[in-house]
Amino acid sequence: MKILLLGPQGSGKGTQAKRIAEEYGLAHVSTGDMLRAEAASESDLGRRVGEIMSRGDLVPDDLMVDIIRNRLDRDDARDGFILDGFPRTDAQAEALEAMLAETGRDLDVVFELQVGDETSVERMRGRAQTEGRADDTEEAMRRRLELYHRETAPLSQRYLARGILVGIHGERTVDEVFAEIQRTLDELESRSVA
Ligand code: ADP
Repeated sequence: MKILLLGPQGSGKGTQAKRIAEEYGLAHVSTGDMLRAEAASESDLGRRVGEIMSRGDLVPDDLMVDIIRNRLDRDDARDGFILDGFPRTDAQAEALEAMLAETGRDLDVVFELQVGDETSVERMRGRAQTEGRADDTEEAMRRRLELYHRETAPLSQRYLARGILVGIHGERTVDEVFAEIQRTLDELESRSVA
């Protein structure tokens, strides 16, 4: 199963992606986690990426596409993955489609976790106190949400048009959201077996 998660900051993407990956045995591909690991390594690339992230800006598309291409080529992602944090722009979405097509693959379903800006900001602030990420300043949080609305949210139209978008009301408990995702995935699985 090839799954994509869309949703603003604090919508619960990372939490749900982890649970889905565990339950269905899929590779969890989180670009945020991958970039934070790179930044922590203090390589030249890591320093560059770290600076961009701490401002709340987006890392350049060509670099992101290279990172994802390498990741999806690995054995554990061949047959199934859950993408969390990619694509975030039109160019990334186009590149993803092209690279999956090259290997005869395609997305099965796109979940959009829907939460309002107030919830998003509230959850980011809450997390900032416990995690203390470099991009958890008020300014970077505002920037991240602004870029989400401008660059990423419009991507849902593309998946809606392809009939693979499933909207999920995200202002509920983790268990409730997961149960709804599971219903869709179990239905998809039983359809492909039949
Ligand atoms: P959040 O969605 O809460 O802002 P993430 O962990 O998903 O956090 O991403 C953190 C940062 O990593 C982003 O603000 C951005 O700088 C960078 N990033 C992650 N994924 C991408 C991507 N697909 N394209 C560009 N930048 C990205």
